[in-house]
Amino acid sequence: MRIAFIGLGNMGGGMAANLVKAGHIVRAFDLAEPALARARENGCETFATVREAVQGVEAVVSMLPNGGIVKSVYSGDVLGHAPKAALLLDCSTIDVASAREVGAAALAQGYAMVDAPVSGGIAAANGGTLTFMVGGTDAAFAAAQPILDAIGKTVIHAGESGAGQAAKICNNMLLGASMVATSEAFKLAERLGLDLQTFYDISSKASGQCWSMTSYCPVPGVGPTTPADNGYQGGFATALMLKDLKLAMAAAGDVGAPVPMGHLAEELYKAFDAAGNGGLDFSAIIGTL
Ligand code: NAD
Repeated sequence: MRIAFIGLGNMGGGMAANLVKAGHIVRAFDLAEPALARARENGCETFATVREAVQGVEAVVSMLPNGGIVKSVYSGDVLGHAPKAALLLDCSTIDVASAREVGAAALAQGYAMVDAPVSGGIAAANGGTLTFMVGGTDAAFAAAQPILDAIGKTVIHAGESGAGQAAKICNNMLLGASMVATSEAFKLAERLGLDLQTFYDISSKASGQCWSMTSYCPVPGVGPTTPADNGYQGGFATALMLKDLKLAMAAAGDVGAPVPMGHLAEELYKAFDAAGNGGLDFSAIIGTL
């Protein structure tokens, strides 16, 4: 397939490279020259504008920073410029309202579009092991699946347009709150004189068990190897966790959903980020407790 790829950053760079490896012709665009240079090294053709990149393609994939940019790229340079038969896939993490707005604008112009945000970080993007949560019609999902299968491990249809973003932010709100809760449980255990490995051995087999404990333990030397064992470098940056918590709070506000735990997690991550820790893995929040 001929696929346009817009946004070749930390995530998009690896995803575009994996589409090339899967045998697709990738027509790439980014505002940053170093991102374009890396894409060329990985076998993509690069273009000076989005409008040129989307000429004659069968699909457009985007991996961009936020909803405002996604809206302006699609309304200004993709809709009306890519062939009408092209399937549009936005894999960025953006607010639900913007995802629905862009999906509706695409539909109004005769395009099929899915929102397909990802779970998994840069390593999963490079390794082709991302999980995609997809919002869109059954037909659009069916068309998107073979493309996403080439760059991910798991592809799930979450529902209609915007449902992929909804699933993503609900999941990450739960993750942020559970990481704070896991961290405070370990710190309390320590202050009560418990050996932390012993607490892990008990709680990981008891009702407190959760992913933040058994797959991503915030305590160095306890549980599997995680960013905690690497000075909280790599992993999922605090700034990105804060971004997702803000999106979750905005969506909760839109529908009047009470999210007290999510709100508290957002406050804690906001303070942690403001103290200069945005680049640290989000499990480093344990250091504040
Ligand atoms: P990034 O900042 O590394 O990459 C974004 C790229 O978009 C940059 O190369 C930038 O130059 C480009 N860009 C910005 N405006 C553009 C425009 N108008 N046209 C073309 N290119 C433009 O960000 P990232 O880490 O790759 O994240 C991308 C998306 O993936 C975000 O929505 C993020 O929330 C989401 N995400 C990231 C991770 C992660 O671990 N990094 C994990 C899951 C989801």
